[in-house]
Amino acid sequence: MSQLFDLPKIIKLRHELHKYPELSDNEFLTAERIANFLSHYKEAEIIRGIGGNGIACIFKGKQEGPSVLFRCDLDALPIEEINDFDYRSTVNGVAHKCGHDGHMAIIAGLADVFSKKPPKKGQVVLFFQPSEENGQGAFRVVNDKKFKKIKIDYTFALHNLPGFPNGEIILRNGTFAAASKGMIIKLTGKTSHAGEPENGNSPAVAMSDIIKQLNDLPDNGIFNDFTLLTVIHARLGELAFGTTPGYAEVMATLRTYTNNDMQKLTKDSESIANKNAAKNNLKIDISYVEEFPATVNNSSMVQCIAKAAESANIKMQYLENPFRWSEDFAHFTKKFEGALFGLGSGINYPQLHNPDYDFPDDIIENGVKILYHIYQQILKK
Ligand SMILES: [Zn+2]
Ligand SMILES: [Zn+2]
Repeated sequence: MSQLFDLPKIIKLRHELHKYPELSDNEFLTAERIANFLSHYKEAEIIRGIGGNGIACIFKGKQEGPSVLFRCDLDALPIEEINDFDYRSTVNGVAHKCGHDGHMAIIAGLADVFSKKPPKKGQVVLFFQPSEENGQGAFRVVNDKKFKKIKIDYTFALHNLPGFPNGEIILRNGTFAAASKGMIIKLTGKTSHAGEPENGNSPAVAMSDIIKQLNDLPDNGIFNDFTLLTVIHARLGELAFGTTPGYAEVMATLRTYTNNDMQKLTKDSESIANKNAAKNNLKIDISYVEEFPATVNNSSMVQCIAKAAESANIKMQYLENPFRWSEDFAHFTKKFEGALFGLGSGINYPQLHNPDYDFPDDIIENGVKILYHIYQQILKK
């Protein structure tokens, strides 16, 4: 396999990407670097500017056949790197701490493979997705006109996973990563003098009742699976001892393993907020940010990955429970048959989003290998 793609070239690309990280929605130079790398594969069709800085690199076969999309992500995080290797981040306070530089390298390696072994039928779409970390990229991509013109039948993505054996495949049928969303509740009453609260309308009691009732909501036995609500921020009035507050905000993160439970949790949370606002005569505004559906794997696609791992001679294991974090690849698996799976980064490896984390180069080969073998399995379907 290693002769199928140029591993040193791919590691060099990974280090370059690591050196110049960019935040979600700002992956301009990263996209440029990737497009430049892909431009050497003359047989590939490159489509840029999909859902922001997204890039599709398409290898077409001569005959009709399945279209398989492999996705990676472009963005880095607002975290200061504490590593001191020679390719450390050159951007203050920004670094590739989720390993998206490694995911891009794996997909670039796959481009190298398909340039040497082009698909005979159907097509392979290598997709570099922007803005994963803020939960906006995948949604924008699947709704982009340029993307809708590309025929897709199946879709796969991998994420490296610290805490799991180096180079092993981590699988799960059904939900792989949780659904989550940020809820913002704004309550408006009327300020008054602290000595005359009767002339105003303070949201203090409504705010504290909302926090308490939201907090108790996941335990009330109406949900089918794991459900979590974490109040992450609250604010009441100003730091002014002479003023009765007239405004409050409560923010919470909602998290579930199924999309049905998320619907129920959202509806019940809104009803708690609305009831308390009405009871206290407050104006209310509810909005959401960073919405991720649950990433639900198609079982026949999971089987494909398992067979691919077997034929590539890579160890694999099944997860008992879904991950509590979310992935916006969910927007792809909602639309197409597909699956998200893990590639172990090493048992005692720094965790994702930690300042000392760096994508392990020694799992790139297994990453390219498993994706290529998945493609072979799809052809057999
Ligand atoms: Zn991340
Ligand atoms: Zn990530």
